[in-house]
Amino acid sequence: MSKYSTTLRKGANQSTIKNANRSLVLEALNSYGTASRTDLARITGLTKTSITNITTELLEQGVICETDPGGGGGGGIGRNPVMLEIAQGSPLALGFSINRDFGYFSLINLKGDIVREDMLFLHDIETAEAFLDGIMALCEKQLSFAKEQKKRVIGIGIASIGPIDIRKGEIANPPNSKVLKDIPIVDRIKERFRLPVVLNNDMNASALAEKLFGCGKRLTNFVYLGVTNGIGAGVVLDKRLLMGENGFAAEVGHISIDYKGKPCPCGNVGCLERYAGIPAIEEHAREVAGGQASLLSLIPSIRWFDIVDAARKQDKVALAILDDLTGWLTAGMVAIANAYDPEVIFIGHELAVAGDFVVGELERRINERVFSKGIQKVKVQLSGFADKMYRINGPALLANEYFRGNVQI
Ligand SMILES: [Zn+2]
Repeated sequence: MSKYSTTLRKGANQSTIKNANRSLVLEALNSYGTASRTDLARITGLTKTSITNITTELLEQGVICETDPGGGGGGGIGRNPVMLEIAQGSPLALGFSINRDFGYFSLINLKGDIVREDMLFLHDIETAEAFLDGIMALCEKQLSFAKEQKKRVIGIGIASIGPIDIRKGEIANPPNSKVLKDIPIVDRIKERFRLPVVLNNDMNASALAEKLFGCGKRLTNFVYLGVTNGIGAGVVLDKRLLMGENGFAAEVGHISIDYKGKPCPCGNVGCLERYAGIPAIEEHAREVAGGQASLLSLIPSIRWFDIVDAARKQDKVALAILDDLTGWLTAGMVAIANAYDPEVIFIGHELAVAGDFVVGELERRINERVFSKGIQKVKVQLSGFADKMYRINGPALLANEYFRGNVQI
């Protein structure tokens, strides 16, 4: 390894400048949907000649296409300018999302439309090798599908429950998983398919999916908060995903909301996810529902969906449980808002199914307590993918690398 620091800024040579400029054009088209060449020059600050060169190359590669002129928003004078957009028939990104129960595989075009989906259930899988075999078989299936459609696949993105080791490209040792332990998934997939492969934790991947294809397209600073078995977040600041030294920049589920609180397997006490994670809420419901006049007291082992269903029927106990949940989440989300200063906090993963009960109330309570109150309101909104983020966060990781100019066609 070089004795010189890798943190020093590097100079730009012609090819890095070209990639960076192409990236500006792609990001602009992705955020605005359609734009003329004149619009692109204005938005990116590039010369018209540069825009012509870049868009000509992207048109040849089938990444973008020309749409009917006169589609609004044009910057031309006199005549309707030709509008450009990311092509429906663009090359594809493959990706998959891994949680404790299943792997979900999707092939998307660069507009974020899903063109094929497959699922791998993990319950019956006993070993890491069998897990990898299952993954390889489904990647193979999706790549064959792309080949039949005569579509190029530019790489593979993997969104996995953490912790993951970004440097080694490994799924490290997620708690409560007998199979997922020290799996060198990036090397194995690269070796087999000879394609660019990118791995990140599922919350970071979700934030990128929200930014590229969801409700965060035109936002500069936002947080994606996913509540499922655990609680995690992905933070986008200044339009870039915040990674930190090891990719753990937003492990907000382990913010302590009670220093004398419940112990957490992470070693800390009073962690947010020990109160507001889905298993914690189910446990809380089982404690409070017994002996009460409630739809829930009839259910032997209350699950999250039972709580939400009962709340929809105006069950007072279920509504009180969701109110407790909102209280715990508020404590964590005020800390998140104070730490990152986002314009919006998106709510996603399983919590999204109770979005209509919690989103407005969270926004109200957070804004009573956040440091920035009186200057700008922190918005709380449902993720554009609600509780189905797993359909897109894997391939979005790869699409992001392409849009950033780190992966070529
Ligand atoms: Zn913890």
